[in-house]
Amino acid sequence: MKRIAIIGGGISGLSAAYALEEKRRAGVEAEYVLYEASPRFGGVLVTDRVDGCILEAGADSFLTEKPWAIDLCKKLGLGDQLIGSNDADRKTYILVRGKLVEMPDGLMFMVPTKLAPTVLSPLFSWGTKLRMAREWFHPPHRASGDETVATFVERHYGPEMVDRLADPLLSGVYGGEASQLSVRAVLPRFAEMEAKHGSLGRAMISARVAMAKNSKARARALFTSLKDGMQQMVDALVAALDGNSLTKGAAVHAIWPEAGGWVVSAGLDTDQFDAVILALPTRAAASLLQRSGPELAAELAGIDYSSSVTVALGYDQQVRDSLPPGFGFLVPRSEGKRMLAATFVHNKFPHRAPDNRAIIRCFLGGARGEQMLSLPDEEILRIVRNELDQILHLKAEALFTRVFKWRGAMAQYGVGHLERLERISKLRQKLPGLALAGNGFSGIGVPDCVRSGTAAVEELLTALGVWEGQPVPSEK
Ligand SMILES: Cc1cc2nc3c(=O)[nH]c(=O)nc-3n(C[C@H](O)[C@H](O)[C@H](O)COP(=O)(O)OP(=O)(O)OC[C@H]3O[C@@H](n4cnc5c(N)ncnc54)[C@H](O)[C@@H]3O)c2cc1C
Repeated sequence: MKRIAIIGGGISGLSAAYALEEKRRAGVEAEYVLYEASPRFGGVLVTDRVDGCILEAGADSFLTEKPWAIDLCKKLGLGDQLIGSNDADRKTYILVRGKLVEMPDGLMFMVPTKLAPTVLSPLFSWGTKLRMAREWFHPPHRASGDETVATFVERHYGPEMVDRLADPLLSGVYGGEASQLSVRAVLPRFAEMEAKHGSLGRAMISARVAMAKNSKARARALFTSLKDGMQQMVDALVAALDGNSLTKGAAVHAIWPEAGGWVVSAGLDTDQFDAVILALPTRAAASLLQRSGPELAAELAGIDYSSSVTVALGYDQQVRDSLPPGFGFLVPRSEGKRMLAATFVHNKFPHRAPDNRAIIRCFLGGARGEQMLSLPDEEILRIVRNELDQILHLKAEALFTRVFKWRGAMAQYGVGHLERLERISKLRQKLPGLALAGNGFSGIGVPDCVRSGTAAVEELLTALGVWEGQPVPSEK
Protein backbone atom coordinates (compact mmCIF):
# COMPACT_ATOMS: atom_id res chain seq x y z
CA MET A 1 0.00 0.00 0.00
CA LYS A 2 1.50 3.37 -1.03
CA ARG A 3 1.06 6.23 1.43
CA ILE A 4 0.74 9.83 0.29
CA ALA A 5 0.76 12.94 2.49
CA ILE A 6 -1.23 15.95 1.29
CA ILE A 7 -0.22 19.17 3.01
CA GLY A 8 -2.82 21.96 2.82
CA GLY A 9 -6.59 21.51 3.04
CA GLY A 10 -7.75 24.28 0.71
CA ILE A 11 -9.59 23.37 -2.49
CA SER A 12 -6.31 22.19 -4.11
CA GLY A 13 -5.47 19.77 -1.28
CA LEU A 14 -9.08 18.59 -0.89
CA SER A 15 -9.26 17.92 -4.65
CA ALA A 16 -6.06 15.89 -4.41
CA ALA A 17 -7.53 13.90 -1.49
CA TYR A 18 -10.73 13.31 -3.45
CA ALA A 19 -8.78 12.08 -6.49
CA LEU A 20 -6.91 9.64 -4.21
CA GLU A 21 -10.12 8.53 -2.50
CA GLU A 22 -11.70 7.85 -5.90
CA LYS A 23 -8.70 5.83 -7.04
CA ARG A 24 -8.51 3.97 -3.72
CA ARG A 25 -12.17 2.96 -4.06
CA ALA A 26 -11.44 1.82 -7.62
CA GLY A 27 -8.81 -0.58 -6.25
CA VAL A 28 -5.60 1.45 -6.53
CA GLU A 29 -3.36 0.48 -3.62
CA ALA A 30 -2.87 3.89 -2.10
CA GLU A 31 -3.91 5.73 1.04
CA TYR A 32 -3.46 9.31 2.21
CA VAL A 33 -3.28 11.67 5.15
CA LEU A 34 -4.30 15.30 4.63
CA TYR A 35 -2.77 17.87 6.98
CA GLU A 36 -4.49 21.22 7.45
CA ALA A 37 -2.96 23.84 9.73
CA SER A 38 -6.15 25.73 10.59
CA PRO A 39 -9.20 24.45 12.48
CA ARG A 40 -11.24 24.19 9.27
CA PHE A 41 -10.89 22.84 5.72
CA GLY A 42 -11.46 24.89 2.58
CA GLY A 43 -8.72 27.55 2.76
CA VAL A 44 -10.08 30.72 1.18
CA LEU A 45 -13.47 29.15 0.40
CA VAL A 46 -15.70 30.27 3.27
CA THR A 47 -19.42 31.02 3.23
CA ASP A 48 -21.20 32.93 5.97
CA ARG A 49 -24.99 33.39 6.45
CA VAL A 50 -26.46 36.56 7.90
CA ASP A 51 -30.07 37.77 7.90
CA GLY A 52 -31.09 35.30 5.18
CA CYS A 53 -28.16 36.39 2.98
CA ILE A 54 -25.34 34.16 1.75
CA LEU A 55 -21.99 35.91 2.04
CA GLU A 56 -18.82 34.67 0.42
CA ALA A 57 -15.65 35.56 2.28
CA GLY A 58 -13.33 34.46 -0.54
CA ALA A 59 -14.21 33.11 -4.00
CA ASP A 60 -17.90 33.59 -4.85
CA SER A 61 -18.03 31.53 -8.07
CA PHE A 62 -15.84 30.17 -10.84
CA LEU A 63 -15.56 30.47 -14.59
CA THR A 64 -17.99 28.08 -16.29
CA GLU A 65 -15.68 27.75 -19.27
CA LYS A 66 -13.09 25.83 -17.20
CA PRO A 67 -14.74 22.46 -16.53
CA TRP A 68 -12.80 20.96 -13.61
CA ALA A 69 -14.73 22.45 -10.68
CA ILE A 70 -18.11 21.72 -12.29
CA ASP A 71 -17.04 18.14 -13.04
CA LEU A 72 -15.95 17.71 -9.42
CA CYS A 73 -19.26 19.14 -8.09
CA LYS A 74 -21.16 16.69 -10.29
CA LYS A 75 -19.11 13.76 -8.99
CA LEU A 76 -19.86 14.94 -5.45
CA GLY A 77 -23.59 14.80 -6.17
CA LEU A 78 -23.92 18.59 -6.27
CA GLY A 79 -25.01 18.76 -9.92
CA ASP A 80 -28.47 20.05 -8.98
CA GLN A 81 -26.93 22.66 -6.67
CA LEU A 82 -24.96 24.38 -9.44
CA ILE A 83 -26.26 27.81 -10.41
CA GLY A 84 -25.25 30.24 -13.14
CA SER A 85 -24.70 33.97 -12.81
CA ASN A 86 -27.71 36.07 -13.82
CA ASP A 87 -26.16 37.09 -17.15
CA ALA A 88 -29.35 38.73 -18.41
CA ASP A 89 -28.43 41.49 -15.94
CA ARG A 90 -24.67 41.43 -16.66
CA LYS A 91 -23.69 45.05 -16.74
CA THR A 92 -20.42 46.28 -15.31
CA TYR A 93 -19.52 49.89 -14.66
CA ILE A 94 -16.15 51.62 -14.55
CA LEU A 95 -15.62 54.62 -12.33
CA VAL A 96 -14.44 57.47 -14.55
CA ARG A 97 -13.84 60.88 -12.93
CA GLY A 98 -16.14 59.94 -10.07
CA LYS A 99 -19.03 58.73 -12.26
CA LEU A 100 -20.07 55.17 -13.11
CA VAL A 101 -19.83 54.54 -16.85
CA GLU A 102 -21.25 51.33 -18.26
CA MET A 103 -18.82 49.07 -20.10
CA PRO A 104 -19.99 49.08 -23.71
CA ASP A 105 -21.64 46.02 -25.15
CA GLY A 106 -19.29 43.76 -27.13
CA LEU A 107 -16.17 44.36 -25.03
CA MET A 108 -14.58 40.95 -24.46
CA PHE A 109 -12.24 41.42 -21.53
CA MET A 110 -10.94 44.67 -23.02
CA VAL A 111 -11.19 43.90 -26.71
CA PRO A 112 -13.94 45.76 -28.59
CA THR A 113 -15.89 43.48 -30.93
CA LYS A 114 -18.85 45.78 -31.67
CA LEU A 115 -18.24 49.08 -33.37
CA ALA A 116 -21.25 51.26 -32.50
CA PRO A 117 -21.40 50.74 -28.69
CA THR A 118 -17.66 51.36 -28.39
CA VAL A 119 -17.67 54.48 -30.55
CA LEU A 120 -20.63 55.93 -28.63
CA SER A 121 -19.30 55.01 -25.17
CA PRO A 122 -18.02 57.82 -22.95
CA LEU A 123 -15.64 55.29 -21.37
CA PHE A 124 -12.86 56.08 -23.84
CA SER A 125 -11.44 59.30 -25.26
CA TRP A 126 -11.42 59.87 -29.02
CA GLY A 127 -7.67 59.18 -29.02
CA THR A 128 -8.28 55.66 -27.66
CA LYS A 129 -11.18 55.09 -30.07
CA LEU A 130 -8.88 56.00 -32.94
CA ARG A 131 -6.29 53.54 -31.65
CA MET A 132 -8.98 50.85 -31.52
CA ALA A 133 -9.72 51.47 -35.19
CA ARG A 134 -6.01 51.35 -36.09
CA GLU A 135 -5.56 48.16 -34.04
CA TRP A 136 -7.79 46.42 -36.54
CA PHE A 137 -4.90 46.59 -39.03
CA HIS A 138 -2.10 45.34 -36.76
CA PRO A 139 -0.09 42.63 -38.56
CA PRO A 140 0.67 39.31 -36.82
CA HIS A 141 3.41 39.79 -34.24
CA ARG A 142 5.26 37.20 -32.20
CA ALA A 143 6.94 38.87 -29.22
CA SER A 144 10.49 37.67 -28.64
CA GLY A 145 9.99 37.29 -24.89
CA ASP A 146 7.51 37.74 -22.11
CA GLU A 147 6.21 41.21 -21.21
CA THR A 148 3.76 42.79 -18.80
CA VAL A 149 0.06 42.93 -19.57
CA ALA A 150 0.38 46.73 -19.47
CA THR A 151 2.97 46.94 -22.28
CA PHE A 152 1.03 44.41 -24.33
CA VAL A 153 -2.29 46.24 -23.98
CA GLU A 154 -0.66 49.61 -24.48
CA ARG A 155 0.85 48.41 -27.75
CA HIS A 156 -2.66 47.59 -28.98
CA TYR A 157 -4.88 50.25 -27.46
CA GLY A 158 -2.78 52.81 -25.62
CA PRO A 159 -2.37 53.76 -21.94
CA GLU A 160 -6.00 54.75 -21.29
CA MET A 161 -7.10 51.16 -21.94
CA VAL A 162 -4.55 49.95 -19.38
CA ASP A 163 -5.81 52.39 -16.75
CA ARG A 164 -9.55 52.10 -17.39
CA LEU A 165 -9.90 48.40 -18.15
CA ALA A 166 -6.87 46.09 -18.11
CA ASP A 167 -5.65 47.15 -14.67
CA PRO A 168 -9.05 47.16 -12.90
CA LEU A 169 -10.01 43.83 -14.48
CA LEU A 170 -6.76 42.23 -13.35
CA SER A 171 -7.01 43.64 -9.87
CA GLY A 172 -10.48 42.05 -9.72
CA VAL A 173 -9.21 38.60 -10.72
CA TYR A 174 -5.61 38.51 -9.44
CA GLY A 175 -5.47 41.37 -6.96
CA GLY A 176 -2.57 42.35 -9.22
CA GLU A 177 -1.36 45.09 -11.49
CA ALA A 178 -1.17 45.14 -15.27
CA SER A 179 2.31 46.65 -14.96
CA GLN A 180 3.57 43.58 -13.06
CA LEU A 181 1.69 40.56 -14.42
CA SER A 182 2.99 38.43 -17.28
CA VAL A 183 0.93 38.46 -20.45
CA ARG A 184 2.05 34.93 -21.32
CA ALA A 185 1.00 33.52 -17.95
CA VAL A 186 -2.13 35.57 -17.36
CA LEU A 187 -3.51 36.14 -20.85
CA PRO A 188 -1.95 33.35 -22.92
CA ARG A 189 -4.80 33.42 -25.45
CA PHE A 190 -4.19 37.08 -26.16
CA ALA A 191 -0.50 36.43 -26.83
CA GLU A 192 -1.51 33.61 -29.22
CA MET A 193 -4.08 35.82 -30.94
CA GLU A 194 -1.48 38.51 -31.51
CA ALA A 195 0.94 35.99 -32.99
CA LYS A 196 -1.71 34.55 -35.33
CA HIS A 197 -3.90 37.52 -36.25
CA GLY A 198 -2.06 40.64 -35.11
CA SER A 199 -5.26 42.47 -34.26
CA LEU A 200 -6.97 41.27 -31.07
CA GLY A 201 -10.24 42.74 -32.36
CA ARG A 202 -10.17 40.63 -35.52
CA ALA A 203 -9.03 37.54 -33.58
CA MET A 204 -11.85 37.96 -31.06
CA ILE A 205 -14.45 38.29 -33.78
CA SER A 206 -13.36 35.08 -35.44
CA ALA A 207 -13.43 33.38 -32.01
CA ARG A 208 -16.97 34.75 -31.49
CA VAL A 209 -18.12 33.37 -34.82
CA ALA A 210 -16.74 29.93 -33.88
CA MET A 211 -18.42 30.19 -30.48
CA ALA A 212 -21.75 31.24 -31.96
CA LYS A 213 -21.80 27.91 -33.81
CA ASN A 214 -21.35 26.11 -30.49
CA SER A 215 -24.85 26.30 -28.98
CA LYS A 216 -23.66 24.85 -25.65
CA ALA A 217 -21.09 27.61 -25.16
CA ARG A 218 -23.71 30.23 -26.13
CA ALA A 219 -26.24 28.97 -23.62
CA ARG A 220 -24.06 28.77 -20.53
CA ALA A 221 -23.63 31.45 -17.91
CA LEU A 222 -20.25 33.11 -17.53
CA PHE A 223 -19.88 32.18 -13.84
CA THR A 224 -21.02 29.12 -11.93
CA SER A 225 -21.53 28.81 -8.21
CA LEU A 226 -23.47 26.73 -5.69
CA LYS A 227 -26.91 27.54 -4.30
CA ASP A 228 -25.74 27.65 -0.70
CA GLY A 229 -22.33 29.09 -1.46
CA MET A 230 -18.86 27.79 -2.17
CA GLN A 231 -18.67 26.21 1.28
CA GLN A 232 -21.07 23.57 -0.07
CA MET A 233 -18.26 22.24 -2.24
CA VAL A 234 -15.89 22.06 0.72
CA ASP A 235 -18.49 20.33 2.92
CA ALA A 236 -19.30 17.79 0.20
CA LEU A 237 -15.61 17.07 -0.34
CA VAL A 238 -14.96 16.53 3.36
CA ALA A 239 -18.03 14.25 3.59
CA ALA A 240 -16.80 12.19 0.64
CA LEU A 241 -13.34 11.63 2.17
CA ASP A 242 -12.28 9.12 4.78
CA GLY A 243 -12.53 11.02 8.09
CA ASN A 244 -9.61 9.07 9.56
CA SER A 245 -7.36 10.45 6.81
CA LEU A 246 -8.08 14.11 7.59
CA THR A 247 -6.27 16.11 10.26
CA LYS A 248 -7.17 19.70 11.19
CA GLY A 249 -5.14 22.04 13.35
CA ALA A 250 -2.05 20.14 12.18
CA ALA A 251 0.50 22.58 10.77
CA VAL A 252 3.31 20.70 9.08
CA HIS A 253 6.58 22.30 10.15
CA ALA A 254 9.11 20.05 8.41
CA ILE A 255 9.37 17.48 5.64
CA TRP A 256 12.45 15.63 4.44
CA PRO A 257 13.27 12.79 2.05
CA GLU A 258 14.29 9.54 3.77
CA ALA A 259 14.64 5.90 2.68
CA GLY A 260 13.16 6.53 -0.77
CA GLY A 261 10.12 8.30 0.65
CA TRP A 262 9.27 11.39 2.71
CA VAL A 263 8.94 12.07 6.41
CA VAL A 264 6.32 14.60 7.46
CA SER A 265 6.45 16.27 10.84
CA ALA A 266 3.42 18.05 12.32
CA GLY A 267 3.31 19.01 16.00
CA LEU A 268 5.02 16.24 17.95
CA ASP A 269 4.18 13.55 15.38
CA THR A 270 6.26 12.36 12.48
CA ASP A 271 5.04 9.92 9.86
CA GLN A 272 6.63 8.16 6.89
CA PHE A 273 5.13 8.37 3.38
CA ASP A 274 6.03 7.22 -0.11
CA ALA A 275 5.21 10.62 -1.56
CA VAL A 276 4.05 14.09 -0.59
CA ILE A 277 1.86 16.74 -2.24
CA LEU A 278 2.38 20.34 -1.17
CA ALA A 279 -0.97 22.04 -1.84
CA LEU A 280 0.08 25.33 -0.31
CA PRO A 281 0.76 28.94 -1.23
CA THR A 282 4.25 28.70 -2.75
CA ARG A 283 5.95 30.60 0.08
CA ALA A 284 4.69 28.07 2.61
CA ALA A 285 5.86 25.26 0.30
CA ALA A 286 9.25 26.99 0.01
CA SER A 287 9.76 27.12 3.75
CA LEU A 288 9.14 23.35 4.00
CA LEU A 289 11.66 22.65 1.23
CA GLN A 290 14.39 24.98 2.48
CA ARG A 291 16.66 22.15 3.60
CA SER A 292 15.90 19.34 1.15
CA GLY A 293 15.71 21.49 -1.98
CA PRO A 294 17.09 25.00 -1.41
CA GLU A 295 17.15 25.89 -5.13
CA LEU A 296 13.56 24.75 -5.58
CA ALA A 297 12.61 26.62 -2.41
CA ALA A 298 14.17 29.81 -3.80
CA GLU A 299 12.16 29.51 -7.03
CA LEU A 300 8.94 28.92 -5.10
CA ALA A 301 9.63 31.82 -2.78
CA GLY A 302 10.15 34.02 -5.87
CA ILE A 303 6.44 33.79 -6.77
CA ASP A 304 4.76 36.85 -5.27
CA TYR A 305 1.40 36.86 -3.53
CA SER A 306 -0.92 39.76 -2.83
CA SER A 307 -3.44 40.09 -0.03
CA SER A 308 -7.14 40.91 -0.24
CA VAL A 309 -9.86 42.28 1.94
CA THR A 310 -13.50 41.63 1.09
CA VAL A 311 -16.25 43.57 2.82
CA ALA A 312 -19.89 42.51 2.66
CA LEU A 313 -22.62 45.01 3.50
CA GLY A 314 -26.33 44.16 3.70
CA TYR A 315 -29.05 46.75 3.02
CA ASP A 316 -32.84 46.95 2.98
CA GLN A 317 -35.33 47.04 0.13
CA GLN A 318 -35.14 50.83 -0.25
CA VAL A 319 -31.40 50.73 -0.93
CA ARG A 320 -31.84 47.75 -3.23
CA ASP A 321 -34.31 49.74 -5.34
CA SER A 322 -31.94 52.71 -5.51
CA LEU A 323 -28.86 50.79 -6.68
CA PRO A 324 -27.97 50.60 -10.37
CA PRO A 325 -28.77 47.37 -12.23
CA GLY A 326 -25.91 45.03 -13.13
CA PHE A 327 -23.12 43.06 -11.48
CA GLY A 328 -21.15 45.94 -10.00
CA PHE A 329 -18.27 48.29 -10.76
CA LEU A 330 -14.50 48.46 -11.12
CA VAL A 331 -12.35 51.31 -9.87
CA PRO A 332 -9.28 52.33 -11.91
CA ARG A 333 -6.30 53.32 -9.74
CA SER A 334 -6.28 56.78 -11.29
CA GLU A 335 -9.54 57.48 -9.40
CA GLY A 336 -7.53 57.52 -6.17
CA LYS A 337 -9.85 55.26 -4.16
CA ARG A 338 -8.95 52.43 -1.79
CA MET A 339 -11.71 50.22 -3.16
CA LEU A 340 -10.77 48.13 -6.23
CA ALA A 341 -14.23 46.84 -7.14
CA ALA A 342 -17.70 46.11 -5.80
CA THR A 343 -20.25 43.44 -6.69
CA PHE A 344 -24.02 43.83 -6.40
CA VAL A 345 -24.44 40.26 -5.20
CA HIS A 346 -28.28 40.37 -5.23
CA ASN A 347 -28.11 40.97 -9.00
CA LYS A 348 -25.20 38.64 -9.90
CA PHE A 349 -26.61 35.69 -7.92
CA PRO A 350 -30.22 36.67 -6.97
CA HIS A 351 -30.82 33.67 -4.66
CA ARG A 352 -27.98 34.89 -2.41
CA ALA A 353 -30.26 37.59 -0.95
CA PRO A 354 -33.99 37.65 -0.14
CA ASP A 355 -36.00 40.01 -2.40
CA ASN A 356 -36.00 42.72 0.26
CA ARG A 357 -32.25 42.73 0.79
CA ALA A 358 -29.26 44.05 -1.15
CA ILE A 359 -25.69 42.81 -0.68
CA ILE A 360 -22.74 44.90 -1.80
CA ARG A 361 -19.41 43.09 -1.73
CA CYS A 362 -16.35 45.33 -1.91
CA PHE A 363 -12.76 44.39 -2.70
CA LEU A 364 -9.74 46.17 -1.29
CA GLY A 365 -6.07 45.40 -0.91
CA GLY A 366 -4.31 43.85 -3.89
CA ALA A 367 -0.73 44.42 -4.99
CA ARG A 368 -0.73 48.13 -4.07
CA GLY A 369 -2.98 47.92 -1.06
CA GLU A 370 -1.11 45.57 1.26
CA GLN A 371 -1.42 48.08 4.13
CA MET A 372 -5.21 47.52 4.18
CA LEU A 373 -4.56 44.20 5.92
CA SER A 374 -3.17 45.87 9.00
CA LEU A 375 -6.08 48.31 9.43
CA PRO A 376 -8.69 47.51 12.08
CA ASP A 377 -12.06 46.36 10.71
CA GLU A 378 -13.79 49.59 11.85
CA GLU A 379 -11.33 51.67 9.84
CA ILE A 380 -11.84 49.49 6.75
CA LEU A 381 -15.61 49.88 7.15
CA ARG A 382 -15.25 53.63 7.50
CA ILE A 383 -13.28 53.77 4.23
CA VAL A 384 -15.79 51.54 2.43
CA ARG A 385 -18.85 53.49 3.64
CA ASN A 386 -17.24 56.77 2.68
CA GLU A 387 -16.34 55.56 -0.82
CA LEU A 388 -19.76 53.96 -1.39
CA ASP A 389 -21.27 57.33 -0.51
CA GLN A 390 -18.97 59.10 -2.99
CA ILE A 391 -19.57 56.57 -5.78
CA LEU A 392 -23.21 55.52 -5.27
CA HIS A 393 -24.45 58.37 -3.03
CA LEU A 394 -25.27 55.63 -0.55
CA LYS A 395 -25.81 57.18 2.85
CA ALA A 396 -28.05 54.56 4.44
CA GLU A 397 -26.72 52.53 7.35
CA ALA A 398 -25.99 48.91 6.49
CA LEU A 399 -28.12 46.30 8.28
CA PHE A 400 -25.02 44.18 8.75
CA THR A 401 -21.36 44.23 7.73
CA ARG A 402 -18.63 41.62 7.57
CA VAL A 403 -14.90 42.11 6.91
CA PHE A 404 -12.74 39.23 5.70
CA LYS A 405 -8.96 39.49 5.39
CA TRP A 406 -6.81 37.20 3.30
CA ARG A 407 -3.09 37.62 3.75
CA GLY A 408 -0.90 36.52 0.83
CA ALA A 409 -3.65 34.46 -0.81
CA MET A 410 -3.53 35.61 -4.45
CA ALA A 411 -0.56 34.41 -6.53
CA GLN A 412 0.92 37.02 -8.87
CA TYR A 413 2.33 35.60 -12.08
CA GLY A 414 5.08 38.09 -12.87
CA VAL A 415 7.00 38.43 -16.15
CA GLY A 416 8.98 35.22 -16.72
CA HIS A 417 6.53 33.06 -14.71
CA LEU A 418 6.38 30.34 -17.39
CA GLU A 419 10.18 30.09 -17.47
CA ARG A 420 10.14 29.83 -13.67
CA LEU A 421 7.66 26.93 -13.95
CA GLU A 422 10.08 25.14 -16.26
CA ARG A 423 12.91 25.58 -13.76
CA ILE A 424 10.63 24.34 -10.96
CA SER A 425 9.73 21.30 -13.00
CA LYS A 426 13.43 20.46 -13.56
CA LEU A 427 14.38 21.04 -9.92
CA ARG A 428 11.54 18.84 -8.78
CA GLN A 429 13.07 15.90 -10.64
CA LYS A 430 15.85 15.93 -8.03
CA LEU A 431 13.21 15.24 -5.35
CA PRO A 432 11.29 12.11 -6.42
CA GLY A 433 7.95 11.60 -4.71
CA LEU A 434 7.28 15.34 -4.41
CA ALA A 435 4.38 16.99 -6.23
CA LEU A 436 3.12 20.58 -6.10
CA ALA A 437 -0.42 21.87 -6.37
CA GLY A 438 -2.18 25.15 -5.67
CA ASN A 439 -2.76 28.55 -7.16
CA GLY A 440 0.90 29.51 -7.53
CA PHE A 441 1.47 27.68 -10.80
CA SER A 442 -0.96 27.48 -13.72
CA GLY A 443 -4.10 29.37 -12.78
CA ILE A 444 -5.42 30.92 -9.60
CA GLY A 445 -9.11 30.22 -10.14
CA VAL A 446 -10.95 27.45 -8.31
CA PRO A 447 -11.19 25.19 -11.42
CA ASP A 448 -7.42 25.45 -11.97
CA CYS A 449 -6.79 24.58 -8.32
CA VAL A 450 -9.04 21.51 -8.62
CA ARG A 451 -7.13 20.45 -11.72
CA SER A 452 -3.77 21.01 -10.02
CA GLY A 453 -4.71 18.74 -7.08
CA THR A 454 -5.97 15.98 -9.36
CA ALA A 455 -2.96 16.23 -11.67
CA ALA A 456 -0.55 16.01 -8.69
CA VAL A 457 -2.18 12.75 -7.58
CA GLU A 458 -2.10 11.21 -11.03
CA GLU A 459 1.54 12.17 -11.51
CA LEU A 460 2.56 10.58 -8.20
CA LEU A 461 0.52 7.40 -8.60
CA THR A 462 2.03 6.92 -12.05
CA ALA A 463 5.56 7.48 -10.69
CA LEU A 464 4.87 5.06 -7.81
CA GLY A 465 3.76 2.46 -10.37
CA VAL A 466 0.28 1.86 -8.91
CA TRP A 467 -1.83 3.60 -11.58
CA GLU A 468 -1.74 3.73 -15.37
CA GLY A 469 -4.64 5.93 -16.31
CA GLN A 470 -5.34 8.83 -18.56
CA PRO A 471 -4.01 11.95 -16.82
CA VAL A 472 -6.29 14.98 -16.42
CA PRO A 473 -5.90 17.14 -19.55
CA SER A 474 -4.24 20.50 -18.94
CA GLU A 475 -6.83 22.46 -20.97
CA LYS A 476 -10.22 21.54 -22.36
C1 LIG B 1 -10.81 37.17 -1.80
C2 LIG B 1 -10.64 36.14 -2.87
C3 LIG B 1 -11.58 36.04 -3.89
C4 LIG B 1 -11.44 35.07 -4.88
N1 LIG B 1 -12.41 34.97 -5.83
C5 LIG B 1 -12.35 33.95 -6.71
C6 LIG B 1 -13.45 33.70 -7.57
O1 LIG B 1 -14.48 34.37 -7.52
N2 LIG B 1 -13.34 32.66 -8.45
C7 LIG B 1 -12.25 31.85 -8.49
O2 LIG B 1 -12.22 30.91 -9.29
N3 LIG B 1 -11.20 32.05 -7.67
C8 LIG B 1 -11.23 33.07 -6.77
N4 LIG B 1 -10.20 33.25 -5.89
C9 LIG B 1 -9.01 32.38 -5.99
C10 LIG B 1 -9.24 30.99 -5.42
O3 LIG B 1 -10.26 31.03 -4.45
C11 LIG B 1 -7.96 30.48 -4.77
O4 LIG B 1 -6.88 30.57 -5.69
C12 LIG B 1 -8.08 29.02 -4.33
O5 LIG B 1 -9.21 28.82 -3.54
C13 LIG B 1 -6.80 28.62 -3.59
O6 LIG B 1 -6.94 27.31 -3.10
P1 LIG B 1 -5.67 26.52 -2.52
O7 LIG B 1 -6.14 25.27 -1.93
O8 LIG B 1 -4.62 26.42 -3.57
O9 LIG B 1 -5.06 27.49 -1.41
P2 LIG B 1 -5.67 27.97 -0.03
O10 LIG B 1 -7.13 28.14 -0.10
O11 LIG B 1 -4.82 29.13 0.37
O12 LIG B 1 -5.39 26.74 0.94
C14 LIG B 1 -4.12 26.44 1.44
C15 LIG B 1 -4.32 25.75 2.78
O13 LIG B 1 -3.04 25.33 3.27
C16 LIG B 1 -3.05 25.47 4.69
N5 LIG B 1 -1.67 25.51 5.15
C17 LIG B 1 -0.76 26.50 4.99
N6 LIG B 1 0.42 26.14 5.54
C18 LIG B 1 0.26 24.88 6.03
C19 LIG B 1 1.13 23.96 6.71
N7 LIG B 1 2.41 24.24 6.96
N8 LIG B 1 0.61 22.76 7.09
C20 LIG B 1 -0.68 22.43 6.84
N9 LIG B 1 -1.53 23.28 6.20
C21 LIG B 1 -1.07 24.47 5.80
C22 LIG B 1 -3.81 26.77 4.90
O14 LIG B 1 -4.32 26.86 6.24
C23 LIG B 1 -4.91 26.67 3.86
O15 LIG B 1 -6.10 26.10 4.37
C24 LIG B 1 -10.31 34.20 -4.88
C25 LIG B 1 -9.36 34.31 -3.86
C26 LIG B 1 -9.51 35.25 -2.86
C27 LIG B 1 -8.49 35.34 -1.75
